[in-house]
Amino acid sequence: MIPSVLPTYNRADLTFVSGSGVWLTEADGRRFLDLGAGIAVNALGHAHPALVRVLTEQAGRLWHVSNLYMIPEQEALADALVDATFADTVFFTNSGTEACELAVKMARKYWFEKGQPDRTRILTFEGAFHGRSSAAIAAAGSEKMTKGFAPLLPGFTQLPWGDHDAFRAAIDKTVAAILIEPIQGEGGIKPLPDTCLKGLRKLCDDTGTLLILDEVQCGMGRTGRLFAHEWAGIAPDIMMVAKGIGGGFPLGAVLATEDTASGMTAGTHGSTYGGNPLGCAVGREVMRHVADPAFLAEVGRKSALLRQKLEGLVASHPGVFESVRGTGLMLGLVCRVPNTDVVRAGYAEEVLTVPAAENVIRILPALTIGDDEIAEALTRLERAAQRVAAHEPA
Ligand SMILES: *Cc1c(COP(=O)(O)O)cnc(C)c1O
Repeated sequence: MIPSVLPTYNRADLTFVSGSGVWLTEADGRRFLDLGAGIAVNALGHAHPALVRVLTEQAGRLWHVSNLYMIPEQEALADALVDATFADTVFFTNSGTEACELAVKMARKYWFEKGQPDRTRILTFEGAFHGRSSAAIAAAGSEKMTKGFAPLLPGFTQLPWGDHDAFRAAIDKTVAAILIEPIQGEGGIKPLPDTCLKGLRKLCDDTGTLLILDEVQCGMGRTGRLFAHEWAGIAPDIMMVAKGIGGGFPLGAVLATEDTASGMTAGTHGSTYGGNPLGCAVGREVMRHVADPAFLAEVGRKSALLRQKLEGLVASHPGVFESVRGTGLMLGLVCRVPNTDVVRAGYAEEVLTVPAAENVIRILPALTIGDDEIAEALTRLERAAQRVAAHEPA
């Protein structure tokens, strides 16, 4: 019999009833160290006092009004994002997937308004993940996500990761935009080298193509910069944001330059909930913390510490782990045994990690993780690795 909850997830038999910082308490009382943070969502950890305060204050005042009216909380968050980034304007969504929808629509509308309505194709990359809507699965293109869901939305072409020649050859006057994650998340924590991101920007400039960056997972301070593309010293034309921006409240955003967004006039797009006062009040508070240079510097310092310790873990368990990859607090351990075995062993040792493609486990803790919590994380990962190694044929 089908469960009352549609069974589209393989769920672990764990029920968390409360959280504080990087800690989650299971119904049976066990305390788990959370290195997944809701898949890079709980940027400030669980039940951060400032977020709880802002949320409850706003909840007592006003939850929702339609976008038919002015929403000061929305304007405040948009102003903060515009001040801190390349963008001139922001549209708020409830998720990363919806951000993908608008990014695609905006790119196509841009060329339509410029008198090039045939310029509609979007180039994406193998291993990409942009969400689960019809546009987002067509963008990613993998059989795992698209099988059985035909007809797919046309106009997307996936290119091999890192094949510059294939890329240059694919760009012609039918291409509206390139869509790429600066660090693939679901794809297995694969950072695009800064030189490649610079090269893509140049290719876009030379051909007039728009550059859409999907920073849903790697943005909002996760790499030690507010947005990952800042490391390469470039700026996109359109950027998708979600996950960390709400700190656990469902919130996403599309950021764009004035010119790129110029086709999106009144009536061309909308969202009932997008940009509601509750979500935006929380997002504004998240920004207040994450956009602070001192906070970002701390992310950088702690990520160096965590990475060094993970390198040590890999060195002491060469039968379990192959390497560490990623940047900032967006790290991956490439496994030599099935990654799900390592994740499960972590459950037994009360530490949460998240599997990804290419047999990787993801380490995406709250950006507020402390040094002693990093040390404790390593103790638990070490025990998990021993547990996995013990079952290994000698
Ligand atoms: C999670 C994710 C999405 C989709 O976001 P949802 O909020 O789940 O719709 C899109 N792009 C990337 C890179 C993601 O990690």
